[in-house]
Amino acid sequence: MSSVKIHPAVDGGLKPAAKDFAGGTLSCDCAKDKVEISIKGQCAHNHVCGCTKCWKPKGALFSQVAVVGRDNLSIKANGHKLAIVDPTATIQRHACKECGVHMFGRIENKAHPLYGFDFIHTERSAESGWAPPEFAAFVSSIIESGASPDNMGAVRARLRELKLEPYDCLSPPLMDFIATHIAKASGALRA
Ligand SMILES: [Zn+2]
Ligand SMILES: [Zn+2]
Repeated sequence: MSSVKIHPAVDGGLKPAAKDFAGGTLSCDCAKDKVEISIKGQCAHNHVCGCTKCWKPKGALFSQVAVVGRDNLSIKANGHKLAIVDPTATIQRHACKECGVHMFGRIENKAHPLYGFDFIHTERSAESGWAPPEFAAFVSSIIESGASPDNMGAVRARLRELKLEPYDCLSPPLMDFIATHIAKASGALRA
């Protein structure tokens, strides 16, 4: 086993998804008056992400991020502590103003291929049984956060060991999904 640490949720090996998983509650890091977000049902497309925008636990090289339908997400407690990190970003990340944890990311542009999905960090929930990560996205971008370029071979080897195929964008199925949406919108493909 390699000593490269990817993210606390995967470093000890991936945990399998629970059958008929009902969902759970995500909470922020505050000692009191935690922001709580209810998620109904299982997440999809869980992955680790190396981009500079996704929220990462302290010291982690990657974030862990999944999607849920926006109708399956609701604010359960202390929503007044949420603020949008960057209102001009495609994904509006709603973070706790006190502890900084990102509670969910939302796309408000209805024309965007991923409109209707909210982005969540399942490790913020105490429930086990979430679908585990399937791949690693934007791997090269960890260098932008200060990771050593010389260590990238070891990082990619560890990701492959965890069966998290490393990509420098999203996975091929998600890139195909996005490109298909754009082609249908432009007329290059028949809708
Ligand atoms: Zn907080
Ligand atoms: Zn990301």
